[in-house]
Amino acid sequence: MDAELIRSARALEGVEVLVNEPLSKHTSLGVGGPADLFVVPHSTDALCAVVNYAVEAQIPFFVLGEGTNVIVRDGGIRGMAVKLGQNLAVISRDGSLVTAQAGARLAMLCRKCCEWGLSGLEFAAGIPGSIGGALVMNAGAYDGEVGHVVDWVLAIDGEGQKRRLSRDELDMRYRHSTFQHNGMIIAEAGFLLRPDDPKAVRSRTYAVVEDRCCKQPVAQRSAGSIFRRPTGDYAGRLLDQAGAKGLEVGGAKISEKHANFIVNCNAATAGQILELIELARQRVHDQFDVWLESEVMVVGEDPQ
Ligand SMILES: Cc1cc2nc3c(=O)[nH]c(=O)nc-3n(C[C@H](O)[C@H](O)[C@H](O)COP(=O)(O)OP(=O)(O)OC[C@H]3O[C@@H](n4cnc5c(N)ncnc54)[C@H](O)[C@@H]3O)c2cc1C
Repeated sequence: MDAELIRSARALEGVEVLVNEPLSKHTSLGVGGPADLFVVPHSTDALCAVVNYAVEAQIPFFVLGEGTNVIVRDGGIRGMAVKLGQNLAVISRDGSLVTAQAGARLAMLCRKCCEWGLSGLEFAAGIPGSIGGALVMNAGAYDGEVGHVVDWVLAIDGEGQKRRLSRDELDMRYRHSTFQHNGMIIAEAGFLLRPDDPKAVRSRTYAVVEDRCCKQPVAQRSAGSIFRRPTGDYAGRLLDQAGAKGLEVGGAKISEKHANFIVNCNAATAGQILELIELARQRVHDQFDVWLESEVMVVGEDPQ
């Protein structure tokens, strides 16, 4: 990238800038080539400045939370990756309304809810990732989803302006939200929860975590469910019935524990994981005439 553009990025206040940062260090699958610029804003105002800089310099940007639902291709990302993690992670409470910055971990929010005796997010215990990522994906499990408890979102639009969106404007559906199309960056959000006995909240939360540990390969590198749920069925069941468990391409393997999880068990590349996804999809199609759609987001370029 042009040295002048790097210099002006480094001049932004409250923003860390890394050049050619490997995104494999920032994704749960541990794959992904470098981002030309990797920027870490330390406040909402710094995030606005980053957007203004990108627009002015005509640099495309990609927002990264904890990278637990993305596959970054091996050629990496041209332009800028904007990281929202522990740099923007404050969680506060006013009665049963909890406000969390986009980089805060969903797991930390669940832990605070146990402490404060606030119910509504127990289903999310054990879902890795940030608040921003959870809202973009409308993360969910055990009949719950983030869209059921979010009240409002503060986002930065394409002109670097702050905008407050109410729940009705978020278009939350199964693994879908308006943020998958509108180009906005989530900066913080409010969640409306219900007061309850902290002991009861904790016990429901722990039960969910325990169940996940039994059913999912939580100790291995993955991106959670690879495929979305097809109408009236489960991707994991179809994959299992199609004999996909244990299939391997290079270091990528379909988990023996849960057929909808691909694990990086031996220095897999993004290319190998993507090849395995296509192989699994084809198997299910050949056997059941169902074309599975990806849940995981695939971004970046193939290597030159
Ligand atoms: C072991 C495991 C179990 C999982 N279980 C579940 C589950 O039960 N249910 C479920 O729904 N998911 C599950 N997931 C998937 C994943 O954890 C969720 O989708 C999570 O909410 C993604 O958050 P993230 O911060 O990692 O997002 P990322 O992967 O970093 O990003 C996901 C998408 O959101 C965008 N994005 C991220 N932050 C922002 C922001 N602030 N503003 C705008 N766009 C943003 C990114 O550009 C990308 O398009 C699991 C993953 C793993 C590894």
